[in-house]
Amino acid sequence: MIYLDYASTTPVRQEVLKAYTTILNTYYGNSDSLHTLGRDVSKLLEQSRTQIAQLFHVSSNEIIFTSCASESNNMAIKGFALKNNHRGNHIITSNVEHSSVLKTMQQLEEVFGFEVTYLPVNQSGIVEPEVLKKALRKDTILVSLMHVNNETGAINPIETLSEIIHQNSRAVFHCDCVQAIGKIKVDVSFMDMATFSAHKIYGLKGSGLLYKKPNIQLLPLLSGGQQESGMRAGTSNAPAYIVLAKTLRLALEEQEESYCHVKKLNEYMREQFSQMDGIVINSDCSSSPFILNISCLQVGSEIMLNALNKKGFAVSAQSTCSSKKKARSHVLLAMGLGEQRATHAIRISLSLHTTKDEIDAFIKAVWEVSHAYGI
Ligand code: PLP
Repeated sequence: MIYLDYASTTPVRQEVLKAYTTILNTYYGNSDSLHTLGRDVSKLLEQSRTQIAQLFHVSSNEIIFTSCASESNNMAIKGFALKNNHRGNHIITSNVEHSSVLKTMQQLEEVFGFEVTYLPVNQSGIVEPEVLKKALRKDTILVSLMHVNNETGAINPIETLSEIIHQNSRAVFHCDCVQAIGKIKVDVSFMDMATFSAHKIYGLKGSGLLYKKPNIQLLPLLSGGQQESGMRAGTSNAPAYIVLAKTLRLALEEQEESYCHVKKLNEYMREQFSQMDGIVINSDCSSSPFILNISCLQVGSEIMLNALNKKGFAVSAQSTCSSKKKARSHVLLAMGLGEQRATHAIRISLSLHTTKDEIDAFIKAVWEVSHAYGI
């Protein structure tokens, strides 16, 4: 199988797996137990937290371990809204966010009576600073906007958006950085809260992070024990959290090399696809080169995915978390690209492991499927 679905998940890095297996076997104590076995695990867990904090240039009390980015997004958005509803009732997000943000917003509206503004994006897929500025209100308590879009790779101007929020309102800024970390520069100093996931950067499934400035108060979504400073009850998945520091360090060390590598492949694919009849490119040129979204106008997403799968290629139609629904990209619709492109899209996502031969074989396969359907 040729894997071109790295935005969905990545294979685990062997060094990370090796470290994890060793820790899992040796340090099996509960990190909250007071005996030596527990204390040893707790020490490694706190070392990992400190190392992660150093990589982000923040303090270790600003790092919360979670089970995944979906949990981090829920913790940040719901946790903040429910704790701070006395300050205001209005939240802002965009209509191209990941489902773990959009569904959380929907729940806040429907169950808890919050008012949510969903900002539109422009044709490149980004939130325009002026649009954000106009949407801010006196009662806006939270703005949640993603760094890099998971379907198109569109990169929001985070620094500018952050400045607008902080200069024009009392709202805090949460940023979903899942598709940005290890790929492009991420500077959490512009964010009040930020979400990360390990399995998108060759780490373990079942571990993620929330960066949170210490002055920000959240209502814990899981009540119980004292883990994660009372923010997340339940025995810590310590071995997974311990190897998250290594996962992140290695991804950051490899970032520049990966970026240069996938940029070349992305440019090559753009060149090749733009010469093919019936194919349109949906990702703007300014997008992250790790993701290329195209629509094959004669072949619907599901048919294309299945045909490519049969030929031995793994790609996605939209976000994997929405893959069981009928393929119709809310992101492409929000970009104004129309129904046809939104129902005929596929997302190709690349990594340092992707080779030019794989891309050539993939382009040929797309051409063959398109021709089989009458272009
Ligand atoms: N946010 C973005 C932008 C994503 O791409 C994803 C996963 O696809 C998530 C959040 C959820 O990540 P996780 O699988 O760790 O919950």
